Amino acid sequence: PTVFIWFRNDLRLTDNQALTAACEHARTVNAKVKAVYLVTPEQWRLHDVGARQLDFIRRHLHELARALARLGVEFELRQCARYRDVASLWQQQLLQQHGIAIYAGREPEFNEICRDQQLLDVGVPLRLTDEHCLLPPLSVLNQSGDMYRVFTPFSRRWREQARCFAIVPLPAPTPIATALDNVQLETTQARIEQLFQPLINDVDTSSWPAGEGEAQRRLQQFIDNGVSDYQQLRDFPAVAATSSLSPYLTLGVISPRQCFAALLARFPEVLNDDTSPGRSWLTELIWREFYRHLLVAFPHLSKGANFNPLADNVIWRNHPQEFAAWCAGKTGYPIVDAAMRQLNSSGWMHNRLRMIVASFLSKHLLVDWRWGEQYFRQQLLDGDLAANNGGWQWSAGTGCDAQPWFRIFNPISQSEKFDADGRFIRHWLPELTSTPLAELHRPNPARNLFNSDYPAPIVDHQAARERALKVLAVLKKA
Ligand code: FAD
Repeated sequence: PTVFIWFRNDLRLTDNQALTAACEHARTVNAKVKAVYLVTPEQWRLHDVGARQLDFIRRHLHELARALARLGVEFELRQCARYRDVASLWQQQLLQQHGIAIYAGREPEFNEICRDQQLLDVGVPLRLTDEHCLLPPLSVLNQSGDMYRVFTPFSRRWREQARCFAIVPLPAPTPIATALDNVQLETTQARIEQLFQPLINDVDTSSWPAGEGEAQRRLQQFIDNGVSDYQQLRDFPAVAATSSLSPYLTLGVISPRQCFAALLARFPEVLNDDTSPGRSWLTELIWREFYRHLLVAFPHLSKGANFNPLADNVIWRNHPQEFAAWCAGKTGYPIVDAAMRQLNSSGWMHNRLRMIVASFLSKHLLVDWRWGEQYFRQQLLDGDLAANNGGWQWSAGTGCDAQPWFRIFNPISQSEKFDADGRFIRHWLPELTSTPLAELHRPNPARNLFNSDYPAPIVDHQAARERALKVLAVLKKA
C-alpha cells in the first residue's frame, strides 16, 4: 500500500503536519510514502500566477526533491491542466498504486476548497491538515459566532486564543526508507524542468535563494538583528528593515507557526504585553491570518467581489493609457514610478510602496482596484490571493477595514516622509539622479521640457483628489 503526501503551498519538510501524519500512517500499516506535486498550468493562468512565482516554485521543488530523496520518499510530478481534472487523476493514481490515503495542507482560496471538496465527494481518502494559519479560519469569531469584519478586535481575540496554544513546530520526519539513489533524483529533477520550463519564460529569481534552509536563515537573522527595530524602520523602503519572508510564507517554504515560535522564543511576553519590542511584527503576522480567515468566511472575495457592496456603485474611469503608464512606472510621480520599476524588475515591492501605488491607481486615477490586484499577482514573487486582495481593497477603500474611502494618500508627502533623502527614488529612476532633492519628490509639469527621459505628471494631485472624493462618495454609509 501507499500513503501519499500531496504538496501544494507547503513546500517544506519541517513543521509540515500533513507530511508527518503521512509518515506516521505509513509506519503503522507498513506502507510506503510517496510525494506528489501537481503542475496545473491552465489553472495558474486563470489565477494570474506570474512566471516569477512559478520559477520560484520550480527552484523550491528541486530543493524539496533532494530533501525527500534523503528521507527515502519518491517524488512524482504530474501535469493536470485544471482543478476540475484533479479528482479523476487522483482516482487513477490511488488505483494504480494501492493508495490508502492522501495527506495535504488545507488552502483558504475558493477554487482550492472546491477542488478538495470534489475529491471528498467522490470518496477519495483525502485528509486535510490546518497549517497555513496558526489559528484555523472560522476559529476566531466574535460573540455572535461570526467572523470579524474589522482587524483590531480580531487581533485582540486572536491573541487571547493564541495564548492557550503550545506553539511548538514539528521537526522534519525521520527517514522512512533508504535514501533514493542519484538516478532517481535526477529523473525527478529532469521532470521538474520539463514541466516548468515552458511556463517561466526568461525570468530570473536567483537573487532569492530557494529552500527551507534559506527561509529559516532569514527568519533567524531577522529575529536576532531586525525585529527590535522593526517598528521604527519598517516604513522606509530604502532600508532593509523587514523580514523579506513573504515569498517563502506564500509558498509554505516556512510555516507561520515557525515564525511565531521564533518570535515567542525571543520575546516570551509578546502575546500579553503591548510594549514588547516584538509586538509590531506580531501584528503583521496577524494581518496575514486575518485576510486568510476573511477569504474562507466570505468566499465571494475569491471571485473578485467588493467587500463593501456599496463599492459596486463606483464608476471607475479605467483609462487604459493611464493604467499602462502606472504599470510601466511612468506616471510622473517619482515615488510611484520608482516603486513600480522595483516591482517590474524584481518581483518585489515594499509594503509602504504597495499602499502608495495602490491608492494612486484606485483613487488618483480611479482605475478599478481589480486591475491593480491582477497586475500585482502577475508580477509578485509573493503573490497571494488573500493578502493581495486584502491590501488592494483596503487601499481602494472598498474593503473591510477602517481605511476610509475619503483618506487619500498624498504621494508627495508620503515620498518626503518615507524617502526623505531620495535614496530609493534615485536608485530606481536613474534619469532623476541629478534632480535636486527639493524637486525629487514632486511631479513637475514642466519636466518633459528639459528632461525628455522622465514624464510630466499624468494627473494633478489636487484635482485628482477632488475628483476621487466626488466619485467615491457613493461609499458613504447611509
Ligand atoms: P514583514 O513586514 O516582515 O511581515 C512579516 C510577514 O507578515 C510577511 O512576510 C507577510 O506574510 C505578513 N504580512 C505583513 N504585512 C502584511 C499585510 N499588510 N497583509 C497581509 N500579510 C502581511 N503580501 C503578500 O504576502 N502577498 C501579496 O500578494 C501581497 N499583496 C499586497 C498588496 C497590497 C496593495 C498591499 C498594500 C499589501 C500586500 N501584501 C502582500 C502585504 C505586504 O505588503 C507584504 O506581505 C510585505 O511587504 C512582505 O514583506 P516582508 O516579508 O518583509 O514582511
